[in-house]
Amino acid sequence: MPSVTGRAFQVTAAGGEFELVQREFPEPGPGQVRIRVQACGVCHSDSITKYGVFPMAYPRVPGHEVAGVIDAVGADVPVLKSGQRVGLGWHGGHCNYCTPCRRGDFILCENAQISGISYDGGYADYVIAPANALALIPDDLSDVDAAPLMCAGVTTYNALRHSGAKAGDIVAIRGMGGLGHLGVQFAAKAGYHAVAVARGADKGPLAKELGAHHYIDSTTQDFAAELQKLGGAAVILSTLTDADSLTKAIGGLGPNGKLIVVGVPMKPFEVSALPLISGNREIRGWASGTGMDSEDTLNFSALTGVKPQIEVYPLDKAPEAFDRMMSGKARFRVVLTTGA
Ligand SMILES: [Zn+2]
Ligand SMILES: [Zn+2]
Repeated sequence: MPSVTGRAFQVTAAGGEFELVQREFPEPGPGQVRIRVQACGVCHSDSITKYGVFPMAYPRVPGHEVAGVIDAVGADVPVLKSGQRVGLGWHGGHCNYCTPCRRGDFILCENAQISGISYDGGYADYVIAPANALALIPDDLSDVDAAPLMCAGVTTYNALRHSGAKAGDIVAIRGMGGLGHLGVQFAAKAGYHAVAVARGADKGPLAKELGAHHYIDSTTQDFAAELQKLGGAAVILSTLTDADSLTKAIGGLGPNGKLIVVGVPMKPFEVSALPLISGNREIRGWASGTGMDSEDTLNFSALTGVKPQIEVYPLDKAPEAFDRMMSGKARFRVVLTTGA
């Protein structure tokens, strides 16, 4: 298992430029595998690496929506084999020894690693990752379709399936970007009464195509009032980075309704306590998912036909792909391919 050479787009310093380098990818250590990257989704959270939002070492290669093929297996990896197709998401591995891990709550591991932040991620020809972070990709899902499901997909699917919503319950998805356009599909395929809420009338037909039973244009309609007309939402899943929209969403919840926050606004949001108390309403976050959660997401997607809508860029155009994602204009997920 010799080391291999390949391309990587690294960020040289917090706020620095992307730099294309040829580098060595060594053989994987104990508990690790090396993955030949086929595709990597470009997520808004890659900006954490680009701009140094979290403390991390540089240079660093971003990318936590990896789909690829195992190319080398380190010691102490009993199950995985070279040639298997695997995905690597935001959850980049756990320690197995801390208290949450001992309780089986690996996503809350106190020593959790994040792909593309704790170690080099998928804007590259190869990634070396802990085996316990990986998901197996089903045969009937392509690499470019699987990649966005490893973060945007698992984040929405896993939050919804743990939301407590039952078939027929009103589940509203706030936002129709990379996460939201998948959330709408998951909500519909899971049997919920799916309501898409986004900006502009133009997204309505597409929301319906993705399975939404209703579309609310938040620029011309009071979405909270509209949700109340339907009976009030059992769940509102917010993928937005707009703090004020979270405040407003409380008004759209029905009795026992739950606002689940998976998009991260840069500022805190205000909530009045009264509607929470008087209606037994709840606000909570959801932290994407483990490799197994991602594998469930991939299998559910293959089973039900959930697919991301993507714009594909070759790896050599990673800086342009990142800018396109940051512009908010991509429909709906930007995906890099290595041509491997
Ligand atoms: Zn992400
Ligand atoms: Zn742990």
